[in-house]
Amino acid sequence: ERLSNNFQFLDVPRHDPKKKDIDDRKHKYEEIYYPFETREVEHQAHRCLHCGNPYCEWKCPVHNYIPNWLKLISEGNLMEAVELSHQTNSLPEVCGRVCPQDRLCEGACTLNDGFGAVTIGATEKYITDTALAMGWRPDMSKVVWTDKKVAVIGAGPAGIGCADVLVRNGVKPVVFDRYEEIGGLLTFGIPEFKLEKPVMAKRREVFEGMGVEFRLGVDVGKDISIDELLAEYDAVFMGMGTYTYMKGGFPGEDLDGVHEALPFLISNVNRNLGLEKAAADFIDMKGKRVVVLGGGDTAMDCNRTSIRQGADTVTCAYRRDEENMPGSRKEVVNAKEEGVQFLFNRQPIEVVGEDGKVVGIKVVETKLGEPDNNGRRRPESIPGSEEILPADAVIIAFGFRPSPADWFADKGINTDDSGRVTAPEEQEFPFQTSNEKIFAGGDMVRGSDLVVTAIWEGREAAKGILDYLDV
Ligand code: FAD
Ligand code: SF4
Repeated sequence: ERLSNNFQFLDVPRHDPKKKDIDDRKHKYEEIYYPFETREVEHQAHRCLHCGNPYCEWKCPVHNYIPNWLKLISEGNLMEAVELSHQTNSLPEVCGRVCPQDRLCEGACTLNDGFGAVTIGATEKYITDTALAMGWRPDMSKVVWTDKKVAVIGAGPAGIGCADVLVRNGVKPVVFDRYEEIGGLLTFGIPEFKLEKPVMAKRREVFEGMGVEFRLGVDVGKDISIDELLAEYDAVFMGMGTYTYMKGGFPGEDLDGVHEALPFLISNVNRNLGLEKAAADFIDMKGKRVVVLGGGDTAMDCNRTSIRQGADTVTCAYRRDEENMPGSRKEVVNAKEEGVQFLFNRQPIEVVGEDGKVVGIKVVETKLGEPDNNGRRRPESIPGSEEILPADAVIIAFGFRPSPADWFADKGINTDDSGRVTAPEEQEFPFQTSNEKIFAGGDMVRGSDLVVTAIWEGREAAKGILDYLDV
């Protein structure tokens, strides 16, 4: 029986896939949502109004054909839906899991105004997960192979997006990454409770099947030089991310017990994946009073990883209010459900130590003042409101700054004042750097951002490369 009610959104409320029981999930490194059932996804997808000029599509950074694949899946047409979904997105099942949909597609959905947005993200995840499990693979039978090959530095979302478009157009991508697995921050950053690791392992198999070659455990600049890549390949794409940790700039940051977010998260992933080199590399929050500083996705991941490690208490201190948090709303809700305490409007001013070890963090209360250059209201300290939060461990999750490689200048690759590689979209060959043979995209070009924007830039850069190579 097919769905035919045009006013489905009135009869069927929006709902997300069910979450696992809190007491259970907060001990496990597993995704917290159950998969959608087929009938459920059809009903949810059928709520779409098929707006003539869909805002969701415009707000989605890769401009997915959302209403079209919602219609296909509501009619039970999985295979067409998955093909269509892959025309615009290289990792739809990943975006369905980790995009901040409330700020992107679902935030722009017409039904978000009162009726509840269509559950776009969970549907996108369902389509690809289900199709891959049923054996679907991208159809490469019509690809006409050229003799061109491109070196891609970085197997994160930007590099993968680029390789996907290149290989579908008959250009051989060879992807180099210093890590032993593909995914970049998807594997060595974002924890399992948001994105389970077999998702990217499956993707590796799919991309290899399409003709993408991965050379893993290879650090470009150390194990192979950029000159070798430029000599051997017709073009180079750089999707190397941003890896300089932002410091707080307050006293006590070097005390024992103060940790950067990414090494903490990576040590946990390495333990879970069996990649840990020495037990001492593991940063353990068990039994500790943990304070996480920051309010973005990285901070939320540190909060929830600390909970899973068995921290005694986890407090997240953020210098603006809840309204102005930069991360995904749903992840803040998930963190609260799992027992994270939030302290809003608190600016850290000093890590307090005794005998070289952290014992607390001094914070001052803030109020929001005038907007800064990015339009975000600047937090201002309230004099006399200082207090010390007791802590055995402090995790600093203030984000990342670009980390330009030492060979950029030598190769004529320009960066801006903050170290981001200059590779504009609006030019003859989009995302070309000042070295005509080298293109770039993702976090290293736009600054730390999102998985979906990195995918978009990688894909668009690949189109620039195809034009540049005249294929
Ligand atoms: P990366 O993912 O950083 O990949 C770069 C790759 O290049 C890495 O694998 C690195 O090893 C490799 N590399 C670098 N230099 C070299 C070299 N010289 N030789 C070989 N390889 C090299 N975004 C979301 O949309 N949703 C989220 O929920 C979310 N959560 C996040 C949580 C955390 C903890 C972090 C840190 C980020 C999160 N983000 C999230 C942001 C998102 O992960 C990034 O914006 C995205 O991964 C950027 O993709 P990229 O391909 O530009 O870089
Ligand atoms: Fe929404 Fe992200 Fe999917 Fe676009 S890629 S439809 S923004 S979940």
